[in-house]
Amino acid sequence: MAETLKKFPIGGLHLPEEKNLTTDRRIEIMAAPAQVAIPLKQHAGVASRPVLKPGDRVRRGTLIAMNDQGLSARIHASISGVVSAIESVPLQDGQMVEAVVIDHDDSDDSEPELMQPIPEGELNPDAVRTRVEEAGIVGLGGAGFPTHIKLKPAADTPIDTVLINGAECEPYLTVDDRLMQENAEQLFRGLDIICRTVGATQGMVACEANKPVALEILRDEAKKWINLEAVALDTRYPHGAEKHLIKAVLDREVPKNALPSRVGALVNNVQTTIAITRAVDRGEALTHRVVTVSGHAVNRPANVSVPIGASMEDILDWCGGPTQNDAHLIVGGPMTGIRIYDTGIPVVKATSGIVLLTPKEATEYQELVCIRCGKCVEVCPMYLAPNNIVSYVRNDMYDEAIAAGLEDCIMCGACAFACPSRRGLLQTIKRGKAELANRRKSQS
Ligand code: SF4
Ligand code: SF4
Repeated sequence: MAETLKKFPIGGLHLPEEKNLTTDRRIEIMAAPAQVAIPLKQHAGVASRPVLKPGDRVRRGTLIAMNDQGLSARIHASISGVVSAIESVPLQDGQMVEAVVIDHDDSDDSEPELMQPIPEGELNPDAVRTRVEEAGIVGLGGAGFPTHIKLKPAADTPIDTVLINGAECEPYLTVDDRLMQENAEQLFRGLDIICRTVGATQGMVACEANKPVALEILRDEAKKWINLEAVALDTRYPHGAEKHLIKAVLDREVPKNALPSRVGALVNNVQTTIAITRAVDRGEALTHRVVTVSGHAVNRPANVSVPIGASMEDILDWCGGPTQNDAHLIVGGPMTGIRIYDTGIPVVKATSGIVLLTPKEATEYQELVCIRCGKCVEVCPMYLAPNNIVSYVRNDMYDEAIAAGLEDCIMCGACAFACPSRRGLLQTIKRGKAELANRRKSQS
């Protein structure tokens, strides 16, 4: 009998996958580039402050910045060498942030600075949270939320289930797919550590059915653990959205403006979970992350472990560079990522992909009038009417836009993808959210 796949009930769509370019490419480790620029604000919360100065020597894993005043995350050197400057650099969203610039020397990067592993007998919730904070671990799926905070649930919202989000539903990206195939043991070890830390009684790794090799490996690995399992999701965008994953796997509805903890769930990213295992068992700080470099305009599509702070240009060079000069460079996946024009910007902890599209693939169609076909409504996983929200935003009617759900939109882009008139629904909604935030800031 065919297996029943878990799925969320309304909206979403099946996108062209394009994952075959890299799904069978083993993760390779990029050699240290000549220089990295490590941003001091690459997480939710306040920026970290440098704890060293130009001229100081560092090893991979040396603490370079921290901030104990409020929500923040520690930052570590991702290559060995000498700090050459502390200066402003642009990020993918156009923000300028301070960064520690490190020039690589001939040090051996294979010998990082490590913390003491935590012996099994000393593994308690406080020890895990402290280690996760020391290692600078944040959500690597895009949110960048400091993980040590997430591992401390409030007393009135106990967690019974930890879900690992292995949906990876964006086209082209295969980071989680490869990590689930190559590091399943570390993934389940991390899941077990998280469950024990937050007091959950069950843990699940949820993976879309379009990753059959990963699913089989996960199921084999799950047999070795108590109360942990692998579950198969239907292949549907956006299964990777936190609330949709919870609905699909646990059939629990997270209320509007509430966190998953309200329904007893905690969702963690695949790579973040593996980083927890490495921090606890090996004493490794978060210095690298795996990115998918893909698209039909890159010479050698690959999954690469890159030093945080490496430039897009250096990473692209590692993959043979673009096949043509007019390629469109998207940071992140093509649905939610950002097109950039400056290849000098650095990779940050939350960068999951670099996608190079040919101009033909990325054709920017001219927007046509709305024909009221309702396709955007049909695919919206948040049960919104995107066409109405957009119309309100464009007419500066923000009270109406809020009432129509501007703040509830998870910016998945499914509406824009489905729209036959190629209306810039997602861009307008993003602009509307930013404008709303500005207005609220100026009123406070
Ligand atoms: S971007 Fe927002 S409005 Fe559009 S489909 Fe996704 S959740 Fe709905
Ligand atoms: S999908 Fe496009 S054309 Fe159809 S109702 Fe929505 S905005 Fe209008």
